[in-house]
Amino acid sequence: MKIQCTSCDYVGDAVSLQKGSRSKEIALWCCLFLPGLLYTLWRQSSDGHYMGCPQCRSARFRTLTRREWKDLERQGLLKA
Ligand SMILES: [Zn+2]
Repeated sequence: MKIQCTSCDYVGDAVSLQKGSRSKEIALWCCLFLPGLLYTLWRQSSDGHYMGCPQCRSARFRTLTRREWKDLERQGLLKA
């Protein structure tokens, strides 16, 4: 999926990112066993993933149509 990130103006492929944070996961595991387990399971499930910008991890982006992508490509705005 080609995207244009509204936060950092990244243009390119969206990547699948994990919600939540690793440090929070570890903290939960250390303090409370059950919430830590649930949190880990949630992050590993499809619910715990979202498509986002690989540069700033933002989920706020605009999906580019094939036509828009071609236009950008022609204008030489793509680094890749
Ligand atoms: Zn971004």
